[in-house]
Amino acid sequence: ESGKKNISLIVVGHVDAGKSTLMGRLLYDLGELSEREKTANERGSKKVGKGSFAFAWGLDALGDERDRGVTIDIATTHFNTPHRNVTLLDAPGHRDFIPAMISGAAQADVALMVVDGSPGEFEAGFERGGQTREHAWLVRSLGVREIVVGINKLDLVSWSQDRYDEIVDALRPFLVSAGFTASKTTFLPLGAMEGVNVLVNEEALLKEWYNGPTLIDTLDQVEVPERPFESPLRIPVSNVFKGQTAVASGVAVSGRLCSGVLQVGDRIRAVPGDEVAQVRTIEVDEDSAPYAVAGQNVTLYLSGIDPIHLAIGTVLCPTSLPVPLVTQFTAQILVFDLQCPIIAGTPVELFHHSMNLPATISKLLAISERGQVVKKNPRVLQKGATATVEISLRPTQGSTRTPSIPLETAAENKEMGRVLIRRGGETIAAGVVMEIIS
Ligand code: GDP
Repeated sequence: ESGKKNISLIVVGHVDAGKSTLMGRLLYDLGELSEREKTANERGSKKVGKGSFAFAWGLDALGDERDRGVTIDIATTHFNTPHRNVTLLDAPGHRDFIPAMISGAAQADVALMVVDGSPGEFEAGFERGGQTREHAWLVRSLGVREIVVGINKLDLVSWSQDRYDEIVDALRPFLVSAGFTASKTTFLPLGAMEGVNVLVNEEALLKEWYNGPTLIDTLDQVEVPERPFESPLRIPVSNVFKGQTAVASGVAVSGRLCSGVLQVGDRIRAVPGDEVAQVRTIEVDEDSAPYAVAGQNVTLYLSGIDPIHLAIGTVLCPTSLPVPLVTQFTAQILVFDLQCPIIAGTPVELFHHSMNLPATISKLLAISERGQVVKKNPRVLQKGATATVEISLRPTQGSTRTPSIPLETAAENKEMGRVLIRRGGETIAAGVVMEIIS
């Protein structure tokens, strides 16, 4: 063990803000991306028509467009800062970025939000319908407390401090309203393409007015949240594959420990199902480890289980304390910007970790303000409302069987108790599970 603390990072922001370029540049400057991969990326990106995509992040361009309907696999890349071991979460090749982001953000400790600082572009991303707002709301709703905002492409405005300040002044109050505290919100000027202020700041024009931390310094100081080591083990599986390494082979799964601890030799149960497997090998950051703890991303090699019983979205649990399978529950939700209001019976898609399932908002129980119920049994929910609702899963099209989902109340397990609700490709609410009905 290096003694470094683990953090998981998700990168968000409006399309074309420079997310891929920035992560590609960061990995390259850290020596995590080889010259060969860099050339391959350059070639690949020319093909897809992004000429200056030189540093575009390997994972972004790769990966076939898979659409498996209900599950999203999360790929991880690792890099190190002096005091942190950072897991970068990404969903390769997903055209619809939001479900992938939900799945990633549910596992993240910190979000890096990239905004395009060039003339007109920040405004386009920040106005209604732009992705900057939705992404900020989403990551906060999914439990991410810390946000680093990189104001990118400042080369296009000659490293203007006025432009930088203008963007910070617009974003700061918005991020506060989205629930990020000032001490957990950091702003940075960036030039991803040329690597300005990524590992070092050698840009004379920027140095004139900025001598704060670089991106890597900032990530190095991200506070590590308290991990629920004491709660029962929960590992929502984000990938299942046939593993083959020098030390192990067989059925392998990867995912993040939401809570608890795990040791080699432990017997674990895969929910849904009654199957029990034994943990043969644990890998943390590609190295085998005797144990893993809450907050770590792991790959596990399992024995005694047929991979048919494992899927993306399966939750690995202690045999004696499995996560409940739920078809109906109440949740306290925050309603986002909506086209049309929510009424009882509204069909939605329920997102939980890497799963999404058809559901119905079956009852509107109450609207609250500052923790007090102000209206019982409302007829509609408008944007901005905080409400308690009943959510019922419903059969997928062409099926008569109502699906169930492994889920807990937020009081029992914070990470297992968060849900997002979408309708027609739009995120309409985020919430926490209050009570399990059945
Ligand atoms: P993503 O959609 O957020 O991943 O954005 P990309 O990384 O694909 O970048 C979008 C475009 O912005 C590409 O053409 C990049 O070359 C360009 N770009 C990214 N960073 C910078 C920068 O710092 N300066 C300039 N001038 N262009 C940049």
